[in-house]
Amino acid sequence: MRKPMIAGNWKMHLNRADAAKLAASIKNGLDPQLKHEVLLAVSFTNLESVRKEISSSPILLSAQNMCWEEKGAFTGEVSPVQLKDAGCDYVIIGHSERRKIFMETDEMLNKKVKAAFKFSLKVIFCIGETLEERENQKTYRVLQTQLNEGLKGLSEQDLTNLVIAYEPVWAIGTGKTATPEQAQDAHIFVRKEIERMFGAGTAAAMRILYGGSVKAENIDELMAQPDIDGALVGGESLKADKFLRVIHYQPVLSK
Ligand code: PEP
Repeated sequence: MRKPMIAGNWKMHLNRADAAKLAASIKNGLDPQLKHEVLLAVSFTNLESVRKEISSSPILLSAQNMCWEEKGAFTGEVSPVQLKDAGCDYVIIGHSERRKIFMETDEMLNKKVKAAFKFSLKVIFCIGETLEERENQKTYRVLQTQLNEGLKGLSEQDLTNLVIAYEPVWAIGTGKTATPEQAQDAHIFVRKEIERMFGAGTAAAMRILYGGSVKAENIDELMAQPDIDGALVGGESLKADKFLRVIHYQPVLSK
């Protein structure tokens, strides 16, 4: 049984005080019986204020990016060792905004994933196709390349510390969500590919989150899909009441 995860990606929003306030509202609104994982991915400058706020709660702390080097002359970068020291449990690697705006390649992302594991950080690894790729029937090819190149050289053991987020680029921040069926199809493909690369046991245990305009209004039907194990949520995670509704989703069908 895969433990679901609901992750909020706050992107480059909020100052320290507002981040702490939002983290507190989310923490205080959590059902104490909640069985799945909740994670907040915040800006580097907000890691400390959010860490303090959630330290007495089950909420996990994540960064949104990192350098693949441990230390040295890499001005402007933040290393896995520094993230670990700042209290991070996870780091997001390969978000489409990093791939597209900051030109991060599969090779760079592969180095980042390996560096994260070397320093005991868990990883949310993002993959997803653009609208053009989908319209040209290239979705599966793109996902396959991103998985093959990004996870190259990893072991089955490494994969126990990795969560995949399938985020169709055309659905991120656009208000257009993939239909539950489109998301489920992509997740099945991703799981099969993980099986081909790492074996059936790893594939069956792999958590695959869906991301792309997840909202309080659509989370229930998404989570009803058998291969959707959670969500990576951008805009909706910046509003405590909405994000709490996403966290406390009620799948329309039982898994
Ligand atoms: C994201 O930031 O990963 C994301 C999916 O954003 P949004 O939910 O706003 O589409």
